[in-house]
Amino acid sequence: MSEDKSAGNIKETKNFIEVFIDEDLNEGTYNRVHTRFPPEPNGYLHIGHAKSICLNFGLAEKYGGKCNLRFDDTNPVKEDVEYVESIQEDVRWLGFDWEDRLYYASDYFGKLYDFALKLIREGKAYVDDQSIDDISEQRGTPSKPGVESPCRIRKVEENLELFEKMKNGEFEEGSHVLRAKIDMSSPNMHMRDPVLYRIKHAEHHRTGNQWCIYPMYDFAHGQSDFFEGVTHSICTLEFENHRPLYDWFLDQLAEDDYRPRQIEFARLNLSYTVMSKRKLLQLVQEGLVNGWDDPRMPTISGLRRRGYTPESIRNFADTIGVTKYDGIIDVGLLEFSLREELNKKAPRVMGVLRPLKIVLTNYPEEQEEWMETINNPEDESMGNREIPFSREVYIDQDDFMEDPPKKFFRLAPGKEVRLKSAYIIKCEEIIRDNEGNLTELHCTYDPETKSGGPQSNRKVKGTLHWVSAKHALSAEIRLYDRLFKTEIPDEVPEGEDFRSNLNPDSLEVVLGYVEPGLKTANPGDKFQFQRLGYFCLDTDSRPDKLLINRTVPLRDSWARQHK
Ligand code: ATP
Ligand code: MG
Repeated sequence: MSEDKSAGNIKETKNFIEVFIDEDLNEGTYNRVHTRFPPEPNGYLHIGHAKSICLNFGLAEKYGGKCNLRFDDTNPVKEDVEYVESIQEDVRWLGFDWEDRLYYASDYFGKLYDFALKLIREGKAYVDDQSIDDISEQRGTPSKPGVESPCRIRKVEENLELFEKMKNGEFEEGSHVLRAKIDMSSPNMHMRDPVLYRIKHAEHHRTGNQWCIYPMYDFAHGQSDFFEGVTHSICTLEFENHRPLYDWFLDQLAEDDYRPRQIEFARLNLSYTVMSKRKLLQLVQEGLVNGWDDPRMPTISGLRRRGYTPESIRNFADTIGVTKYDGIIDVGLLEFSLREELNKKAPRVMGVLRPLKIVLTNYPEEQEEWMETINNPEDESMGNREIPFSREVYIDQDDFMEDPPKKFFRLAPGKEVRLKSAYIIKCEEIIRDNEGNLTELHCTYDPETKSGGPQSNRKVKGTLHWVSAKHALSAEIRLYDRLFKTEIPDEVPEGEDFRSNLNPDSLEVVLGYVEPGLKTANPGDKFQFQRLGYFCLDTDSRPDKLLINRTVPLRDSWARQHK
């Protein structure tokens, strides 16, 4: 829901789903709101799922209703408890609670089986023993009606017997299916005698070897909503023409008028991102990323490890809203949402990515001072801290140029800059090794310009971040960038696939230095490295081996760099 503040007073604009729900409540179709989030546990959740989670749980919150978490676990071959667990962790982390309503489609295998028997007995389902190829051949095309299977006229008794044998494991995979008897000439392909059950001699992560027939997603999904008393069954647009089939099933099954109302919305597509679970799995399996929670992945666990917060993701979901039309959202908007939050909340710290040593030749050898500096200029309540200063400091290599262009206001031979919260320094001499490579700079500092001192306001053009060499902690800093180098990674020349568009520079690892206070930081803590961007401590970071991930740079520099 977005707020229109332009008129001076806050006016709530409802999205089309909320308008439908309001109608349903006003007309008395339902007197409650009950939604669900129904993932298939065949991969980790991604930012697209986050949109659906925020929508379903968000609607339940808004209308004082309920939202279930239900695993649509109808395909044992692709599903796994690892995914079941990660999905629960991710939904909770986003800030939502299904309370005691954790369900599995596999809970309904018994009921679905009984329903299949009922359809057979009523002459509305039959066992087909043709090959899969023949069956799909006979389905026809949207403009060409299908052909009826020769098995369609099989007698009820024989169907019951064959289905029983399917269930008892007497047939091979692919040899028989159970199909609904609906209409082979329907303009809606989903109504052309869809498959209800197939044989899979596979162990299910919950039901073990109890079953060797498994219901198709379409035969399980709508009924699961019905069994759970869902009122608003919200799904993505591609399910729009499955709706008549779900209705048909419920018309055969339900004895009263209650039906879940299916409402479709456009799935989230993000630029520079692939979202299909199949492709994400491929990236993981082929080692193109370091697992599902690699900070470059669009998975919720990847975003979390990258330094995203639940609030930033929920705000993003709110901002993009829901529509009926497919489009691509700029990934910059997701990054913006995070920057906006971290700008307010993340403490500022000093960190140097590519160190260049500076020796202050007129600073006493053994002296050290503690400089007071503000934790967050956006929020004074976050207070101040002290950082150590000494004769040798590191600055970033980028902040020095031997032969600078006119507008370069950082350090250069003979020039002055301010070291933030410390002193103004002047570059006196470049020191080189035998091969002529720059190794350090010799500078002088101006004691009068100490931060807070009499001449601390003396004007110089540049201010640099720095760390004291003897106090700094070394850190492995991972400079993550977009995983794909093109806006729509799926657009590739003939014969290639999305992997051709992987960005070879999506990860650069540097050994940098950070101020000593980070010793007590915990994995997941987030900071703004002054002038550089937002960073967070990686899950695997330890006090004696700091691992730091770059979350996002301070500004969206992608467009500038890559044009
Ligand atoms: P696949 O990658 O095979 O298309 P899926 O993304 O549909 O699978 P599910 O586990 O079935 O995976 O998704 C669970 C729920 O999340 C569904 O209700 C689906 O509508 C929703 N969802 C999935 N992807 C997106 C997306 N990109 N945007 C919004 N909702 C999504
Ligand atoms: Mg799906």
